Amino acid sequence: MNEMIYLKNVATLELDPEKCSGCGMCLIVCPHAVLSMNHGKAQINNRDSCMECGACGLNCPTDALTVQAGVGCAAAVINAALGRDGACCCVVEPPGDSENNPSKICC
Ligand code: SF4
Ligand code: SF4
Repeated sequence: MNEMIYLKNVATLELDPEKCSGCGMCLIVCPHAVLSMNHGKAQINNRDSCMECGACGLNCPTDALTVQAGVGCAAAVINAALGRDGACCCVVEPPGDSENNPSKICC
């Protein structure tokens, strides 16, 4: 499977290696394998793969990781699924069958 890549250089993920205790929790919870361990400390492998879900920051016991969770596409998709208008950034409904019933695509 191809690696998922989001918009480049926009993820807000930050890691303070001085605060990292090396517990490895962020590697366990990250759905996109953005982080890895290097000599007992977490490191960011590929920031552009981060979907800003916030799981790493929420589960980091030392606050070494920060991310503005929910500002990216993940939140937009969830908001759109909940029927909140103007919240999506992608196709959220099946393709329409005519000009009178188009797909819902917004940004
Ligand atoms: S969860 Fe926090 S303390 Fe643990 S390895 Fe990741 S960054 Fe370091
Ligand atoms: S915010 Fe989510 S996707 Fe990004 S590094 Fe943390 S756990 Fe992984």
